[in-house]
Amino acid sequence: MIRFALLALLAVAPPLAAWGPHGHQVVAEVAARELTPAARAEVEALLGDRASNAMREASTWADEIRGEAQWRHTGAWHYLNFDRGDCHYVARKACRNGDCVVGAIEREAAVLADRRAGGERRAQALRFVIHFVGDVHQPLHAGYRDDRGGNDFQVRNRHDGDNLHGFWDQDLLRAARGELKVMAHARDLQQQPGPEADRHWEPRAPAAWAEASCDIVQSDGFYPARGRITPEYIARFAPVADAQLRAAGHRLGALLNTLLGAHR
Ligand SMILES: [Zn+2]
Repeated sequence: MIRFALLALLAVAPPLAAWGPHGHQVVAEVAARELTPAARAEVEALLGDRASNAMREASTWADEIRGEAQWRHTGAWHYLNFDRGDCHYVARKACRNGDCVVGAIEREAAVLADRRAGGERRAQALRFVIHFVGDVHQPLHAGYRDDRGGNDFQVRNRHDGDNLHGFWDQDLLRAARGELKVMAHARDLQQQPGPEADRHWEPRAPAAWAEASCDIVQSDGFYPARGRITPEYIARFAPVADAQLRAAGHRLGALLNTLLGAHR
């Protein structure tokens, strides 16, 4: 009887997503908690709601629209590709015409900072920046071209088959933390100070973030042997994923504090 009740519960429970909506919302929430009063006022004026709500909501917009015809050109803005074994960012190789996640952050951040750009366009830039700062911290959004950022590398996690990219997007944190709640997860991460450097925005930073993501992809054991996700893999890399979300949140907060509200 109890078992049936449990099965019924599992059947109706909505699927949880990690670096899908969950990860992006955590990044947005960490950043929202760190805004200066001036930056917060400007975020709220642009998005029309309290910063925390508005930023969590805005954090997934870029994924929701990318399939629509008018936004199809933004598909390449969510990631970039390195050649295997070479994590050095060279724009003309990794980001032709600015069509990659680093180029998108740089460009949209500049629009956001430009007060002549108009409220609607700047609100759009803010939505893009919130999302892409999250994306560039998912290591496989700055992975190798030859396996399309882990999309072509199949893995097995107990009974579930997936590819490594999808596993990092959706399942790694859930496997480590169980059920995920955005606010609790964000509070948890925000209270960890992280490196002081994460509190300062400078325009070259997105390239360095991409290189650091690639370094994680390049680290020993990142590609699990025989594609098997083991408890050891989860124990080793879930804290890495958490640290990436935390860094993304702090860095997004610093970016917004620097670009918004400071000079009217
Ligand atoms: Zn994305």
